[in-house]
Amino acid sequence: MIGGGLAGCASATSLAARGWQVQLLERHDQLAQEASGNPQGVLYLKLSAHGTALSQMILSGFGYTRRQLEHLQRGLDWDGCGVLQLAFNTKEAERQAQLAAAFPADLLHVLDQPHAQALAGIGLEHGGLFYPEGGWVHPPALCQWQAKHSQIQVMTHQEVLELRRVDQQWQAWDGERMLASAAVVILAGAAEIKRFPASAELPLKRIRGQITRLPQTAHSQSLATVVCAEGYVAPPRQGEHTLGASFDFKSQDLTPTTAEHAGNLAMLREISSDLLQRLNAEQLPLDSLQGRAAFRCTSPDYLPIVGPLADPEAFAETYAALGKDARQVPDLPCPWLDGLYINSGHGSRGLITAPLSGELLAAWLENEPLPLPRSVAEACHPNRFALRRLIRGKA
Ligand SMILES: Cc1cc2nc3c(=O)[nH]c(=O)nc-3n(C[C@H](O)[C@H](O)[C@H](O)COP(=O)(O)OP(=O)(O)OC[C@H]3O[C@@H](n4cnc5c(N)ncnc54)[C@H](O)[C@@H]3O)c2cc1C
Repeated sequence: MIGGGLAGCASATSLAARGWQVQLLERHDQLAQEASGNPQGVLYLKLSAHGTALSQMILSGFGYTRRQLEHLQRGLDWDGCGVLQLAFNTKEAERQAQLAAAFPADLLHVLDQPHAQALAGIGLEHGGLFYPEGGWVHPPALCQWQAKHSQIQVMTHQEVLELRRVDQQWQAWDGERMLASAAVVILAGAAEIKRFPASAELPLKRIRGQITRLPQTAHSQSLATVVCAEGYVAPPRQGEHTLGASFDFKSQDLTPTTAEHAGNLAMLREISSDLLQRLNAEQLPLDSLQGRAAFRCTSPDYLPIVGPLADPEAFAETYAALGKDARQVPDLPCPWLDGLYINSGHGSRGLITAPLSGELLAAWLENEPLPLPRSVAEACHPNRFALRRLIRGKA
């Protein structure tokens, strides 16, 4: 396993549960130091009323993560305090009405402004959609719980620079030393997996995001659920609220900036000017604000990338006929890269998609019944991009 964030730890725990011996290689001194390292992430379901593959993945993933969280300490590691998505404009209100018609009320329901405000415990200008089983999670706690298994060996300070194929085994090298060798390797290093030739072609993008940590006050403690509009704010954990999160498609620098703290505060004002006041947030000097930045890793269709990898060139050659006629699927075996698998591309919702993706990966590896409808598993398959390129004649 290469990568010790939510994707790597989830895959490790799913395999260990099936009796595998797992070596989990992480380049930092601890697990969950990059995207999975925020103090609080939100369990928020961005669903579609049209039953898309992404929506099905989110729904199943939410249930799976939620069941895992029951093993963690409520209040410190997570809290199922609910998530309120504000209907901050007419378009959002219409979208929410469609969702409320499409899903059961115990998953989500519309609240008018007075009810939303009473439930959230702070002044709000709008009502919204309430997800009673949503909440926040301290992602490092989930990673640590997943990796704490007698069959998982966590190996920190191990940065894999190169993979070599020798005698049916994959060897992970740091340039000078062989760090580990195994018949199966799972690439779970978010967008960093593009450094390996086998996964270099995958269309993964890094999007920088920054959160702001706001000290709780006597008046902010009344916040009783996560509240979201463009951004989100969570009830306090260990004396601090997490406010998130910015999106920056260009910057490659992870030093937190005051400009993005200011952007996060502007999102807080949109959520609730009452909470902004309760937190005294406008009185705090911007350069005194604490926070952290990391990269999300997204795919063009926003679905994660989970499953076995094929040899990119051999794949294009084997299925070249699809470029002429997409219905004539050549009856030829896929040129898999034996033992090379991937769990990445979790974008802004890794808390919901990564744990179930660990199960999906284990099901591919063990030839088990899949934990999701076949169509959803295929929509997450690493080959989908190469296939689309071939069919569009752009191979
Ligand atoms: C600001 C921000 C806010 C977010 N908010 C939410 C939220 O509210 N809800 C939600 O569900 N999601 C949220 N996300 C998204 C979520 O954090 C990610 O989807 C998730 O953490 C991805 O997990 P990962 O394991 O794929 O990546 P990462 O956590 O980045 O883990 C990858 C790991 O691989 C290691 N690695 C990489 N390459 C190598 C190598 N060659 N050798 C060894 N180790 C390697 C890295 O050091 C890292 O530890 C947020 C993300 C950001 C950045």
